[in-house]
Amino acid sequence: MKITFLGTGTSQGVPVIGCTCEVCRSLDYRDKRFRTSIHIEVNGQSFVIDTGPDFRQQMLRENIRRIDAVIFTHAHRDHTAGLDDVRAYNFIQEMNMPVYGTHAVLDQLRTEYAYAFGKNVYPGIPRLDLYEINENAFSLNNVPITPLPVKHMNLPVLGFRINNFSYITDANHIPEETLRKMEGTEVLVLNALQKEKHVSHFNIEEAIEQVEKIKPKQTYFIHISHKLGLHADISKELPANINLAFDGQQIDMA
Ligand SMILES: [Zn+2]
Ligand SMILES: [Zn+2]
Ligand SMILES: [Zn+2]
Repeated sequence: MKITFLGTGTSQGVPVIGCTCEVCRSLDYRDKRFRTSIHIEVNGQSFVIDTGPDFRQQMLRENIRRIDAVIFTHAHRDHTAGLDDVRAYNFIQEMNMPVYGTHAVLDQLRTEYAYAFGKNVYPGIPRLDLYEINENAFSLNNVPITPLPVKHMNLPVLGFRINNFSYITDANHIPEETLRKMEGTEVLVLNALQKEKHVSHFNIEEAIEQVEKIKPKQTYFIHISHKLGLHADISKELPANINLAFDGQQIDMA
């Protein structure tokens, strides 16, 4: 199983348009963050979790030539805005793209991409097959996936566990029941926005508290704001088993 961080930035990305802060002016490639998304290769399958506004650039950068399914965590635009570009895979693979999300997420996609679901569809639209999931475990082309329900202020969001890898983005609360589903996690990916407290995201201190409960071997923080600070500075402040993820970083798991 191989994980690639397609993007590790918060909704505005880093640098933020028009911002002249130290982080946004940084020349360190690890301070350039596309909107949050990952690519997973497992059992010969190729999945992406979320298709944010940078999806096209992410696919080009990582040279991803096949996608077997898109899985959505929630329907915020920074996680859905790139879905139209799965058209490229419709053409190459000569098939509709399987898309997995909760009832609420699929409803939102039908609204945002209404032109793809109309009666007299125009040629060249994205061809999407929607599959509804809920909080129960499901199997995607023989890959078992356990949804990890979390809260993003009051919005339900799904994280996902595959084998001993757990992925949670856009949360500021992980219920006890979900923590139990995460027992035995070896590699954890978790959102950590900034130092200051935030209404809908863990800040770095709260994210570290969650890591202490979950006790994975290694943790990677994502959905990072320019307000967090320079990658190089913050990395030095973190314990050895916690890293800030950066775009293009890969994790190989047995
Ligand atoms: Zn987000
Ligand atoms: Zn900035
Ligand atoms: Zn969100």
